[in-house]
Parts: sequence; C-alpha cells; structure tokens
Amino acid sequence: MPLVKELAKEGEISMYIIMLGAPGTGKGTIGNEICKHYNLMHIATGDIFRAEIKNQTELGKKANEYISKGQLVPDDVTIAMCESYLDKSDNVLLDGFPRTIHQAEALKEYLANKGKSVTAVIDLNVPDEDIVVRTSSRIICSNKECGAVFNTVFMKPKVEGICDVCGSKLIKRPDDNPDTIRKRLETYHKQTEPLIEFYEKEGLLEKIDINIYSETTKEDTTRKSVEKIDARLSD
Ligand code: ADP
Ligand code: ZN
Repeated sequence: MPLVKELAKEGEISMYIIMLGAPGTGKGTIGNEICKHYNLMHIATGDIFRAEIKNQTELGKKANEYISKGQLVPDDVTIAMCESYLDKSDNVLLDGFPRTIHQAEALKEYLANKGKSVTAVIDLNVPDEDIVVRTSSRIICSNKECGAVFNTVFMKPKVEGICDVCGSKLIKRPDDNPDTIRKRLETYHKQTEPLIEFYEKEGLLEKIDINIYSETTKEDTTRKSVEKIDARLSD
C-alpha cells in the first residue's frame, strides 16, 4: 500500500493547504515550494489581482482601487474569483485567501458542498519590524507566469535585477513602499489575524516561527511545513 503522503504527492488524494501570515512573511515563496513538493495548483490571489491590473480588466481596475491603498478587495469579488479557480482542481494551495472571517466561512461552505475540507493551515510568523525591513527590499519577477520573489538584502538573485528562474526583469511591487506596507500590516491585524483563532478552533492551525535573518530560512520553513502537512496526511 502506498503511503498516504506518497499518494498526496502524486495528486491522488485531494489536498487543500492554506498559507496564512502577514504581508512579506514569505507565503508566496514557501507556498511555491510546498506546491512543487505535493504537485499542487498555486492559487495566489495577490498574483491574480496583479495580472488583472496589468491587463486592465474590469476586475483589475476595481481591485486596484483597494490594493493601492493597502486595503482588502471586497469579499464578494474575491470569493467569486477564488471559487472560479477552485473549480479547476482539488489539489490546491491557497496563498492569500482567505483573508477575512467571511472569506473563511465561504471557503468552508464551498468545500463542504464538494464533500471536501481544508487539510492544514500554515501560519508563518514574523515580527512586524522585520516585515517592514523585508518587504521594503523585496523584488518580484515581472513575468506574471513566473512570479518568483527575491530580496535585495535577504535573497539576492544570482544576477542583479534578473530572475534566476526565467531570466525576466525583477521589479518592485508598487504597494511595497513603507507607507503602504504599514497600512497593509494594519489591515492584516484587523481583518486577517482573527483567522488564526478561527482555524485554531477548527484544529487546522500549524504555526511556524520565522527568523528572516537566517540564511536557511527558505529551506527550514519549507521542511517544517512539509513535516507538519505529512503528519496530518498520515493521521
Ligand atoms: P501580501 O501578502 O504581500 O500583502 P498579496 O500579493 O497576497 O500580498 O496581496 C496583495 C494585495 O491584494 C493585498 O494587499 C490586498 O489588497 C489584495 N488581496 C489579496 N488577496 C486578497 C483577499 N483574499 N481578499 C482581499 N484582498 C486581497
Ligand atoms: Zn521569473
């Protein structure tokens, strides 16, 4: 009999992993690694919104009104968008969704209707002071198909300004300036942090403390996350 975690790796059992954590805690980077490990579809709401903004779609125009101010895009818009992606697969990692209690409840109901449930919630924990430092020095790949994240201080690309993965130009996110970062942190504490208690009550929360100054942060955090997910898969 193949181990459950091997089946999960081959995409034979359904998996729903949620990445929780303030802006700049590495949800995208670690989420990417977890996706590769289990072969999951990466649904990153921020990336989807940025692509919509770049393509100047109606959704993009609406989302940008909020994103540029460090506020959340309204729940109805976000939930409908996420569900349209969730319809495509039952092996997914959600990065940036849910971000409000209302979104978490909508997700729970959506999954229940499919006879599914959340597998684990990975909560990445970084002190606010460290977040401002790390986010101010963050640079991302301009190729929206790639979306790799680097940092001019903590995770330098091999060639300055160029993505290691696909060779495209690295750019700064317009909302990664200190003022908007502080606003996003405020939004996080007010609207998203209550999800920690929500998922703790559901028995799904896996908390991981992160030291951004360690050179092995990415590998350590990925390994810890995978260990915690594997432990839940074999339960
Ligand atoms: P970060 O976690 O670094 O702030 P993201 O790329 O996840 O960045 O999100 C960027 C912005 O997109 C958020 O500040 C917010 O305005 C919007 N956004 C992303 N996900 C959601 C969501 N689930 N609900 C509402 N707004 C969202
Ligand atoms: Zn790239």
